[in-house]
Amino acid sequence: MPELSPLGVFGGTFDPVHVGHLRLAEEAADALGLACVRWIPAGQPRHREAPRVDAAHRLRLVELAIAGNPRFVLDPAEAESGEASYTVPTLERLRGELGPAQPLVLLLGADAYAGLAGWHRWREIFALAHVAVAHRAGLAAHASTLPAALRDEHLARSVPGDDPAALAAAPAGRVLGFAMTPLAVSATQVRELLAQGRSARYLLPQPVIDYIELHHLYRRHDGP
Ligand code: ATP
Repeated sequence: MPELSPLGVFGGTFDPVHVGHLRLAEEAADALGLACVRWIPAGQPRHREAPRVDAAHRLRLVELAIAGNPRFVLDPAEAESGEASYTVPTLERLRGELGPAQPLVLLLGADAYAGLAGWHRWREIFALAHVAVAHRAGLAAHASTLPAALRDEHLARSVPGDDPAALAAAPAGRVLGFAMTPLAVSATQVRELLAQGRSARYLLPQPVIDYIELHHLYRRHDGP
């Protein structure tokens, strides 16, 4: 049977989506040979602070940001569910949809990966998907810096030399790192700029900025 190209799965709050997210997904697609990257904006994540902007707006921002990229696909299920988002049920849904043989690759920044052991049912992730970790600016996923439970999984599952060929060879279960252009932008920084009425130009695609302005999002008086 021919090997299936791995499919990227990229979840996040995207509050708002910015160039760091876009380059992570684009560079992952290139470096890891992904057929496409499925973007999954979160509904109401429980493992972190509530997003500043509701799911319908965040979904639309991602839709605008990825428009025209043939490798990017929007998956609105979590954002439209109106419920808390958890990674394992999402991966189970994709497995049900795509079958047991399709290699899935969960894309994470190094900061998200370092916190993985705090996620609901996190060990089940490896039975459902591979995990590919982008070296976020100033942060690489060195085993020595990971919490003990995750370090054991990391060492057992790491692909020698981070060879992406391992991703197509199995549907799930391996961990590898990939280098991306270091971009120190974060959604927190973007929210702060916007709340102060300062420019976030070039940190986000222009259609995203236009939508934020049109709907008066992230202004200081909008939130608690
Ligand atoms: P916040 O500042 O609100 O915490 P964020 O910018 O980290 O947000 P998320 O939506 O929480 O954005 O992140 C989604 C995913 O993208 C995570 O895996 C995160 O590690 C990764 N990521 C976000 N920004 C970058 C960046 N600049 N470089 C590499 N990875 C990033």
